[in-house]
Amino acid sequence: MRTYPVPLVPGPVSVPLAVREIYLTDYGSPDLEGDFFELYAACEGQLQEILATRHDVTIHSGEGMLALWAALKSVLRPGDRVLAVANGLFGYGIGEMAAQLGALVETVGFAYDDIPDPARVRAAARRFQPKLITAVHCETPSGTLTPLAELGAICREVDALFYVDFVASGGGVPVLVDEWAIDLGLLGSQKVLSLPPTLSMVTVSERAWEAVADVGYVGYDSLAPWKDGPARRYLPYTHNWHGLAALHTGCQLLLDEGLAAVYARHEEVAAYCRQRLIEMGIGLYPCRDEIASPTVTAARVPDGWTWSEFDAVLRSKGMVVGGNYGPLAGKVFRIGHMGNQARMELVTQGMDLLEAVVKG
Ligand SMILES: *Cc1c(COP(=O)(O)O)cnc(C)c1O
Repeated sequence: MRTYPVPLVPGPVSVPLAVREIYLTDYGSPDLEGDFFELYAACEGQLQEILATRHDVTIHSGEGMLALWAALKSVLRPGDRVLAVANGLFGYGIGEMAAQLGALVETVGFAYDDIPDPARVRAAARRFQPKLITAVHCETPSGTLTPLAELGAICREVDALFYVDFVASGGGVPVLVDEWAIDLGLLGSQKVLSLPPTLSMVTVSERAWEAVADVGYVGYDSLAPWKDGPARRYLPYTHNWHGLAALHTGCQLLLDEGLAAVYARHEEVAAYCRQRLIEMGIGLYPCRDEIASPTVTAARVPDGWTWSEFDAVLRSKGMVVGGNYGPLAGKVFRIGHMGNQARMELVTQGMDLLEAVVKG
C-alpha cells in the first residue's frame, strides 16, 4: 500500500494522532459493561451538543452507509410514500434505496450544481403526501451545501418525517437538528469527526421512534434495539470499545476547539481553496460560492488532462484528491478539507502542489 503525505480526499479523512493511539490501547471486556455504557452516554452527550439536539443519538458499528440503510429500513414498509429531494449522487441514491425497499418513491430532482428549490419541494410534498422526506445536507460528490430549515418546515406542514444525510457536514458546519425539525439525522465517523470508517450515528426524534416501533424491522441495522438498549445496558452485539473511545476523543477535540472556531476554520480553508483554484484557472463546480460546502470543494478536471493522468501525476507527488462517480465521473474532482484536513497548512501545501502540476 502506498501512502500519501498530502491527503485531501473527502473521506475517510486523515486520523489525528490522539485518535490513532486509542486503537493501540487495550480496552474493554464483558466484565466492564458499566464502563462501556458510561462511555456511550458521554459520546451521545457530545454528539447532542455538536448537532444541537435533545433527541437520542444512536451509535452503531459499521460505516456511514449503515446509518442511511438503518434509518430507511427502520421506518419504512413496502408501499410507504417517500419524497426524495435530490441534487446529487447521494440524494438520488437514497431515493433508489427506498425504492429497493419497496417504498413508493417520488424524486424532486435538481441539477448537481444547484440546490433544491423549496417551492417545488413544497408543491410535490402537498400533492404526494409522503410519510418520509429525504434530503442531503452536503452532497460530497458535487460539493454543495443545502439549507435545511425550510425543508424541515415543509415536512411539518405535511406531517412527514424528515430524513437528512449530514454525513459530510456534521461537525464542520452548523447542523441544527432540532431547529430544522430533523427526525432522522445521519452521520458517519470517517468525515469531519476524523475517525476510521467504523461507526455511524443517527439522531432519532420521538416521532421517528414511534415509526420505528410501528414498523418493527429486525436486523443488524435495525434502530429498534437502541430505543431502550443504552438505558437497559443491553445492545445486540459486541461493544466497539475502541470506536467509542476514539469517537469520544474526536468529539472532544472539536468541542475543546469550540464549534464556532471549528466552523470558521472550515469556511476559511474552503474560501482559500476556491480562491487558489480560480487563480490557477481551474473551474469550480458548482461555481456559486454561496452554495459551496465548507467541507469539500469540487472542481473541473483542468483542460488538457484526463482524470486518470491528472490523478496519477498528483499521486506521484504525494497528493491524493477525490475522483467522482455517476455523471461527474472523469470530469469533476474533489478536494476534501474536512475535520483533520481542514488545516490551512495542509490545504496550502496541496494547492501549491496542484498549481505546480497545472502550470507544468
Ligand atoms: C461519505 C458519505 C456517506 C457514507 O458513504 P461512505 O460509504 O462512507 O463513503 C453518505 N452520505 C454522504 C453525503 C457522504 O459524503
